[in-house]
Amino acid sequence: MVAKLIDGKSFAVQIRSEIATQVKVLLDSKGIKPGLAVILVGEDPASQVYVRSKGKQTIEVGMSSYEYKLDRHVSEGDLLGLIEKLNSDEKVNGILCQLPLPDHLNSDLVINSINPEKDVDGFHISNVGLLATGQKSMVPCTPLGCLMMLRSELGDLSGKNAVIIGRSNIVGKPMAHLLIKDSCTVTIAHSRTKNIEELCRSADILVAAVGRPEMVKANWIKEGAVVIDVGINRVEVDPEISSKGYKIVGDVDFESAKSKAGFITPVPGGVGPMTIACLLANTLTACCRKNGLPEPDGLTA
Ligand code: NDP
Repeated sequence: MVAKLIDGKSFAVQIRSEIATQVKVLLDSKGIKPGLAVILVGEDPASQVYVRSKGKQTIEVGMSSYEYKLDRHVSEGDLLGLIEKLNSDEKVNGILCQLPLPDHLNSDLVINSINPEKDVDGFHISNVGLLATGQKSMVPCTPLGCLMMLRSELGDLSGKNAVIIGRSNIVGKPMAHLLIKDSCTVTIAHSRTKNIEELCRSADILVAAVGRPEMVKANWIKEGAVVIDVGINRVEVDPEISSKGYKIVGDVDFESAKSKAGFITPVPGGVGPMTIACLLANTLTACCRKNGLPEPDGLTA
């Protein structure tokens, strides 16, 4: 079997185009323009790239983008003050504080100071609780993107056995809640899990969110399973192969896995592009909720 590629890049283009259409309708019919504020503390190069990309795509779909670049030594009080200001700014529907934050800042405190209705990352403790109890919430972008891809390939997910490798608060746990809500039977594996390979072979849906390059091999995968690779790992390569001296690989050994899986996401070009598309989807959802309008079709969990 050769797996069907789940092309997250094209899917994200399609989602962004749907968002752009709905943003235009909002603007033309109601004079409302959704806005997303992104806060970046410090100069971490990877974070700078993400923030630039988020800002560019926000503008491309017709929303307002507000960027706040703060010195890495900013005080917690000043950062909380900015968030308070954005919480009460009518033009801002979504607020995102790029993680990780420098050590002197308390990330939990910062995230929980964002108005939950504007918490487009879905990390606020209220949204975590709402999602865990199956209620309407803001859903973390990466798991939301994975869910959209799964639904689009499989349709109804009910009754599927899903194994998620990784129990982080930003990927593994919310992914589990979403799949439970869609009536999958869910198991979360982590670094202490016994017989992980055998467990993974029981999965109709296998989500790898570990951060270990190419850990999941073909013999971990059930014939025909859907494999979603969340991992983003930088591995060194011979400069003759890549002038950068590194390449990005996932948590799944793509070359071997694609001959066993039924569907598989590549890295890059799978989950990554869907994450930003879902951030924009969440901003639109937040805007619709704020204005008492119907939620955008197919863009929420
Ligand atoms: P974390 O480091 O927070 O969590 C990793 C999880 O993997 C932990 O639960 C850990 O277990 C588990 N784990 C580590 N080693 C093993 C092992 N040998 N066997 C089984 N489980 C193991 O990572 P994140 O969830 O934040 O991210 C995971 C990956 O996804 C990373 O590569 C990250 O870069 C990527 N990512 C990609 C995004 C995208 O947009 N595509 C967005 C977010 C993340 P334990 O809890 O026991 O330590």
